[in-house]
Amino acid sequence: MTAQEALHTYFGYDAFRPMQAEIIDSVLAGNDTLALLPTGGGKSLCFQVPTMVMADNDADGEGLCLVVTPLIALMKDQVANLRKRNILAAAIYTGMTHEEQRVVFDNCLYGAYRFLYVSPERLESETFLKRLVQLPVKLIAVDEAHCISQWGYDFRPSYLRIADIRNVLDVPVLALTATATPEVVDDIQRQLGFKQPNVFRTSFARENLHYVVRHTEDKQGQLLHILQRVPGTAIVYVRNRKRTKELAEWLNEKIGNQSSIVNYPIVNFYHAGLPASERSAKQQAWKDGKTRVIVCTNAFGMGIDKPDVRLVIHYDLPDSIEAYFQEAGRAGRDGQTAWCVLLHAPKDSVIVKQRISNNYPPAEEIERVYQLLCDYLTIGLGSGRDATFALDVEQFCTDMHLSFLTTYAALQILTQAGYISFTDEQNLQPRVRILIDKEQMYHLDESPYQERLLSALMRRYTGIFTDAQFIHLPRLAEDLGSTEFAVNSSLIALSKQRIIKYIPAQRVSIVHFPVNRQAEVQLAPRVYSERKQVFERNLKAMTEYAENNHYCRSQLLLGYFGELEAPLCGMCDICLQNKKSEGK
Ligand code: ADP
Ligand code: MG
Repeated sequence: MTAQEALHTYFGYDAFRPMQAEIIDSVLAGNDTLALLPTGGGKSLCFQVPTMVMADNDADGEGLCLVVTPLIALMKDQVANLRKRNILAAAIYTGMTHEEQRVVFDNCLYGAYRFLYVSPERLESETFLKRLVQLPVKLIAVDEAHCISQWGYDFRPSYLRIADIRNVLDVPVLALTATATPEVVDDIQRQLGFKQPNVFRTSFARENLHYVVRHTEDKQGQLLHILQRVPGTAIVYVRNRKRTKELAEWLNEKIGNQSSIVNYPIVNFYHAGLPASERSAKQQAWKDGKTRVIVCTNAFGMGIDKPDVRLVIHYDLPDSIEAYFQEAGRAGRDGQTAWCVLLHAPKDSVIVKQRISNNYPPAEEIERVYQLLCDYLTIGLGSGRDATFALDVEQFCTDMHLSFLTTYAALQILTQAGYISFTDEQNLQPRVRILIDKEQMYHLDESPYQERLLSALMRRYTGIFTDAQFIHLPRLAEDLGSTEFAVNSSLIALSKQRIIKYIPAQRVSIVHFPVNRQAEVQLAPRVYSERKQVFERNLKAMTEYAENNHYCRSQLLLGYFGELEAPLCGMCDICLQNKKSEGK
């Protein structure tokens, strides 16, 4: 089977997008490969297609691709998408029970699984690595590969473990990212131990996108003005969650009456603090065109592929130019003209300086958060290794009299330093513990349905009498031949009768301890001072871009984009002159 055939057979597409074929050929030739494609450029297919080809051409029909990716939500999406195409795929991430993980491994070992998605923290577990080497892995795909570089904006220390896997699995690696700064590009290849440098990229400059900076004292007024002038779907990025709601409500008052569809305001808001169901409803309404403008934090947009976004407006300065272009690049995927507007007020450059101390609190403060966190979770000195906890960060801050912003930043830094592994707000599965003993169970006078539910719980989840176990509602519903809703109601009923303790699904943050509690915290320059410098430098570059955008081909941007073309604003003197001379 060829790559072209696999594209057609398994994915139903006719042609490769720019660079996909070249990247796939390189992988199939067994070369370590770094693929730099913009968001939405189609990076996933670059490892999915060759895996299908390799498995198809394998004498035993074996072939598994290990995909390392930090985004649990996207992981689940991708698994679901592959399954829709009848391709077996599974995921292992923090928060799953040992039993659930074992089932996934067995499937990969004995079933015709093609993709195993894992979150990077899993790579730190010895058990995981021991099991991994038994699997028929043919390719390692490292998605969001900039996470391996301390120069990237999202460095994850557990990504460095991928190098260890390379020592035990002798297969090629494909690294994928949308970040293309020269430092990150070099770092990824070095950290992953590329046999030789091998980079593929498409131009990041997209002719149809117009980048504009609007200098104004009245951002709100400008925002309204632009939304009234440029028709079509829009995204407005704001940094503050509360502000997304306020702005959306204000805009709705001004332009909302243009909407003909009730229940779907023409302007809506979105941030990571909303319940999952609400978020997906809002996202869907926007995707379907029922909502025109979404006012959101940067939690919106990852993995969203809407081709006809005409406008991306940034109300606040992002932290870096890369982040800016990543978000702005969600405009105009269909190749039609689209606008990326950055609103900039004179005082912005001063305000953003505050972010440096918010993101990098003093080392003593970070140490204090660590020790208080261990106390809070009752982890004694020298213990705690491999323990996982659900943490309500706000509650923790209230109870321990800590500031939310600093604590949040400290948890991130402690993660970078390897003391903990903190995963922000993810969907935790519901948990159940049976409160009565087996003897008492026989004397219960329950409905047949509840009896069957109880025995299904006992059968599926060993240890359910001693500890609350994560349960899987769809699976239980399947066991009982009923619906998730019925199982849920029944669990609630049983818990009211104090037969079980039921903790419904919730959104929580998770803290995992890769090492025992330490007496003190050492912050290496690699995780603190150097990163702080990078953060400052990125922020400064972003500020300069906002202040001097009329030099859109400035050294600054060329520095960021390497030998690539810097994006054109289409508005500045230089651009207009170029246009004139082209026209001649
Ligand atoms: P990235 O990871 O680069 O942001 P994805 O891999 O998520 O992008 O792909 C974005 C979308 O493009 C997906 O919906 C995917 O199915 C689609 N896509 C990718 N390659 C092709 C192709 N060759 N033809 C048609 N659609 C494609
Ligand atoms: Mg992707």
